[in-house]
Amino acid sequence: MRLLLLPIFLAHCGVARAEPGKFWHISDLHLDPDYKVSEDPFQVCPSAGSQAVPNSGPWGDYLCDSPWVLINSSIHAMKEIEPKPDFILWTGDDTPHVPNERLGEEAVLDIVKRLTTLIREVFPDTKVYAALGNHDFHPKNQLPAGSNNIYNQVAELWRPWLSSESIALFKGGAFYTEMLPGPRRTGRIVVLNTNLYYSNNEQTANMADPGQQFQWLEDVLSNASRAGEMVYIIGHVPPGFFEKTRNKAWFREVFNEKYLKVIQKHHRVIAGQFFGHHHTDSFRMFYDDAGAPISAMFLTPGVTPWKTTLPGVVNGANNPGIRVFEYDRATLSLQDMVTYFVNLSQANEQGSVRWELEYRLTEAYGVPNASVSSMHAALGRIARDQGTLQRYYVYNSVSYDKRVCSEACRDEHVCAMREVAFDAYAACLRALGTAPTCSLPLLLAALFGLCALLARWPWALPNGSLGSPSSG
Ligand SMILES: [Zn+2]
Ligand SMILES: [Zn+2]
Repeated sequence: MRLLLLPIFLAHCGVARAEPGKFWHISDLHLDPDYKVSEDPFQVCPSAGSQAVPNSGPWGDYLCDSPWVLINSSIHAMKEIEPKPDFILWTGDDTPHVPNERLGEEAVLDIVKRLTTLIREVFPDTKVYAALGNHDFHPKNQLPAGSNNIYNQVAELWRPWLSSESIALFKGGAFYTEMLPGPRRTGRIVVLNTNLYYSNNEQTANMADPGQQFQWLEDVLSNASRAGEMVYIIGHVPPGFFEKTRNKAWFREVFNEKYLKVIQKHHRVIAGQFFGHHHTDSFRMFYDDAGAPISAMFLTPGVTPWKTTLPGVVNGANNPGIRVFEYDRATLSLQDMVTYFVNLSQANEQGSVRWELEYRLTEAYGVPNASVSSMHAALGRIARDQGTLQRYYVYNSVSYDKRVCSEACRDEHVCAMREVAFDAYAACLRALGTAPTCSLPLLLAALFGLCALLARWPWALPNGSLGSPSSG
């Protein structure tokens, strides 16, 4: 009898070992509490600014931040799809894109509280590792390097998820570290406040190490190495460049360099980096001096569909997205990444919202897992193969923008994914050598210039030449 039971027991253990752990990553919920369906296109949402919003629907609009019903459905969809995650990563930006005068400290705190309460109600027994975004402060982007009322209040809101040590740290600079749940206690999470490195943050502009966060990070990673731990790093504003335009970095250059140095020095203990802020779905590779891939950063799409007003970005909206990672609980190695989404225009047409599978990373890019070498291989395919590039490009906007990604578009995305350092990114664009993606105004200017040249109008530039609109 014993002999018979032994293989069953072993098989059971084998299955248990193979079963991956799962965790959610959500970001950029951006609640617009004043969103409403209206016949008047200027009364739909403050987050559209002065733009008209025709045909607004109950689940939201691509010109607006999220209505409450959309956010509510996203958190409940998580509960339906994967009700028992090991933990949840929530990387910030809770408030709408409106001028500071429309918000204020109380309004910001109220929105953080509403979202915190919702997540706690739906996932009462799940640890949530939450970071502040650049919109989770008043005035926006101006997150200080030291203690203040907002950090104090948010630390209290998040008390159920934090150790007493983390609460004290958070109150001083909005960063902290915790051991991940699990029997072995060898997994650690580091939650950074990278808003301190954001170039729009005037509070930290002249500091060498705002909040001494870099020093603290170095210490945490050195200690993790000594203790045999593996670490996930999360934050809101990522280093490197925005892939939907050219030369748009978020960090000040000196902070970007420092961040890269930390990753290069400590990559052996870093099992993954998870950030938001872009609202798009992309990833970043980190390499050592010899060019070997050493780390990958995953940028998760936003729940908000809001079309960015960033200059140079054409039609920068997205469908709402949420994602689950599958990982090895013992080593934290990433096995897969599964993204779910809502087709917002369809939801509004049908009057009901449906969160559906968008893609599974391993299937989309033909890689065995979500490891650093797999992500390096995926990037290689995106750069070389038009079919893979196009697939990546559609996922980048969460299946919203289905235009063809041209050569110039490819170069913008590939260089942003491949090079996080300022000089290396510029060199990458130079090496690939295509002009920026043509926007409509640029195209019109070019056509107008061509007409002027053909007509040899008297006010054409000296020597009859017209500067190329896409030079440089
Ligand atoms: Zn955001
Ligand atoms: Zn942001």
